[in-house]
Amino acid sequence: MTTQIRAAVCRAHGAPLSIETLHLRAPGPREVEVTLAAVAICHSDISYADGAWGGPLPAVFGHEAAGRVSAVGPGVAAAAVGDNVIVTLIRSCGACPSCAVGVPTACTAPPGASPLTGSDGAPVVQSMHCGAFAERVVVHDSQIAQVPATLDPAVSCLLSCGVITGIGAAVNAAKLRPGQDAVVIGAGGVGLNAIQGARIAGARRIVAVDMTEDKLAAARAFGATAGVLASEPKPWRAAMAHLGRGADAAIVTVGAIPAYQDAPRYLAPGGRVVMVGMPHSGAQASYEPVILAATGQGLIGSKMGDVVLSRDIPWMLDLYAQGRLKLDELVSNRWPLDRIDDAIADTRTGGARRNVVVF
Ligand SMILES: [Zn+2]
Ligand SMILES: [Zn+2]
Repeated sequence: MTTQIRAAVCRAHGAPLSIETLHLRAPGPREVEVTLAAVAICHSDISYADGAWGGPLPAVFGHEAAGRVSAVGPGVAAAAVGDNVIVTLIRSCGACPSCAVGVPTACTAPPGASPLTGSDGAPVVQSMHCGAFAERVVVHDSQIAQVPATLDPAVSCLLSCGVITGIGAAVNAAKLRPGQDAVVIGAGGVGLNAIQGARIAGARRIVAVDMTEDKLAAARAFGATAGVLASEPKPWRAAMAHLGRGADAAIVTVGAIPAYQDAPRYLAPGGRVVMVGMPHSGAQASYEPVILAATGQGLIGSKMGDVVLSRDIPWMLDLYAQGRLKLDELVSNRWPLDRIDDAIADTRTGGARRNVVVF
């Protein structure tokens, strides 16, 4: 049995998305169908649509969603019809070596077949196991987390990627402790969350680095204690003037290679660069190994903030309810599905925090 849904389909990399009617099959074992209320546009969606990382087409992108469970398959214990949930790309089997040690973001189990087909019956790729630029999705039950019915879906959907990626980078990946210092490079949708993650972790000083005074002002509103313009010839010097010995963590939230290249310059001895932004495939950065070896510094990557949904989403929901986590301020604009290309174009300008498609 299939349901007809409207979705934004990518048929050629770099071309506008086309709004089409697709067929979505019913949920199978351990799968849920979620009727979406909102999906945010993440820079990863745009990179996929541009072909930055390759991947088969036609495909439906979108992975930062919220809605209500409208059907469940056999064996689903985590949700019932009517539940309000967020939908993420973190699909975890619970049994592979990564899941077994508590790192579901690194699950190695292969995803199932796409639940999507075109009006001609040909398969359509469900990108990132989500395909959330669509009225409904069918996803594995590990990909959802419960949220209160009172929470605006255009706000809660941000918990599916941008918020958890940024906060998780500061708390889970950088493991910032009270009194430590952080530098966050990039004060966009993910960077603002890395900044508030550092604040929540109890960081002593948080330096934001970005291209405009507007972005630095936003960074201060989210918890940065200082801002440095990336356009300065050697911005790490201004950061060092504020930090003294350097940062315990330099979190790179943008995809620009110069940001990766320069990030180790912000570090204190023993500090870590946390790589969160996603440059295009083939882009290279270089560094001097002797400096890292002599100073005990390191470089680590962080996918989706190393988040464990069942642990971290209830925590973040409480922080929000207590006024300790900013979410509403992250929504720049709301768009109908028919105008998703305009929303993507607006996101490309770099000014938006998050553009959200509402259904
Ligand atoms: Zn994302
Ligand atoms: Zn697994």
